[in-house]
Amino acid sequence: MQALPIFLKLAGKRVVVAGGGTAAARKSEMALRNGAIVDVYAEILGEDFRSIETDANLRHHARTVERADMDGAVLAWCAAEDDTADRRAHAFASEAGVTVNVADRPELCDFTMASILDRSPLVIAIGTEGASPILGRMLKAKLETEIPASYGRLAQFVGERREALEKVTKSSPERRRFWECLLEGPIAEMILAGQEGAAEKAFDAEIAALAAGTSKATPGEVYLVGAGPGDPDLLTFRALRLMQRADVVLYDRLVSDDIINLVRRDAERIYVGKQRANHTVPQEEISAMLVRLAKEGKRVLRIKGGDPFIFGRGGEEIEMLAEHGVPFQVVPGVTAASGCSAYAGIPLTHRDHAQSCLFVTAHGRDGQIEADWEAILRPNQTVAIYMGLALLDSLMKAFLVRGASPDLPAAVVDNGTRANQRVVTGTIATLAEKARAAELRGPTIIIVGTVVALHDRLDWFTGRQPMPAPGSAL
Ligand code: SAH
Repeated sequence: MQALPIFLKLAGKRVVVAGGGTAAARKSEMALRNGAIVDVYAEILGEDFRSIETDANLRHHARTVERADMDGAVLAWCAAEDDTADRRAHAFASEAGVTVNVADRPELCDFTMASILDRSPLVIAIGTEGASPILGRMLKAKLETEIPASYGRLAQFVGERREALEKVTKSSPERRRFWECLLEGPIAEMILAGQEGAAEKAFDAEIAALAAGTSKATPGEVYLVGAGPGDPDLLTFRALRLMQRADVVLYDRLVSDDIINLVRRDAERIYVGKQRANHTVPQEEISAMLVRLAKEGKRVLRIKGGDPFIFGRGGEEIEMLAEHGVPFQVVPGVTAASGCSAYAGIPLTHRDHAQSCLFVTAHGRDGQIEADWEAILRPNQTVAIYMGLALLDSLMKAFLVRGASPDLPAAVVDNGTRANQRVVTGTIATLAEKARAAELRGPTIIIVGTVVALHDRLDWFTGRQPMPAPGSAL
């Protein structure tokens, strides 16, 4: 982002417009609509000024703009549609420290105009930093049809009642929750349907209930959300919605920055990072923290890599929540085995290769591999091993010792689904050495089974690789 979008109040402020043509008229009109006092400098005013030239706040000066005219202005528009004149006006504005825009000269602009969707007091401004104003206008047209005019009334309704709510609530999270419930509930529907009287009554009843302490407005709650393996595109709609609602978020190392950036901007962020054998915050403490924060009335987002119920200890967390009567919801995510296999072109099951798939973890309680080897070595099966990188060598040896063929294909997918995804393939005899040579950092999933042999052919089609040139051998 190279320009900060802000909403600037112009009421009663002086704005300079240099020029008398169409562009100058549009800018003057916009400034007048915002209550500015507009000083227009131009020998003559063109046709387009007809509708505004009698406006009391428009002052026409029949001459070119001078340096002193800029003093005290908050904004200046140079729209003489003449390069020399515009550059001159621009220089004056810059000298005077006035924020300036020169029509059709993005390189001379301190600010640019957004495409505006006006549902006052709700206003949506779309900018493209000058890259493509047409795209901005197209988006605006799209939003025009999706955001009904009644949203303006809704924003106004809320704006007029902020004070009333302030009087009966203590904290800003409490107020935010109240508005969120209102905006997603029946009161908002009434306003959108034009039943303002009914909405007012319902609102007053809600305020009275809050004051009397009998409101049924939601207490704190916990969202246990699976964030998938890393690519934000793999989030569910529900995950994203709850990420936007949370007051506080607890996250760990497995959740990528790209995803954390989608959490509501002003939510408090607590890192409870976990690493193998190095639990930064002990699990019991995380669970206790979830309970405490929810009891404070907050919406707590506990976001986890992959799926919260697959090697994610999500079960333990919600047990504790249930014990303490804290409401919660669980949102599934794309688990690493599934995401990594898809992005690496390794189908977990395949008619010709594997009729079942086993998810196991190599992360034994005290560093030992705990596994049901009889189950792991079943034929026609794919095995996806979580948390196995550190034990890769001994894992592969264990396969061999227990009688698996040294040619059995195996792969590691490192940082699966992320921009830095790497796939190393081999056999159970060669994989550990190859992985070591590749200096993988993790997180890494190990996939063992003949489906891995399909990787070379299918990887081109997973969308993560550029397509080969037509006619080249795959
Ligand atoms: N709940 C998670 C798993 C947590 S256990 C899920 O459903 O995916 C952590 C292990 O998941 C890591 O050690 C690694 O084996 C695997 N993992 C998570 N994200 C991964 C990624 N982007 N690429 C490869 N493996 C990943």
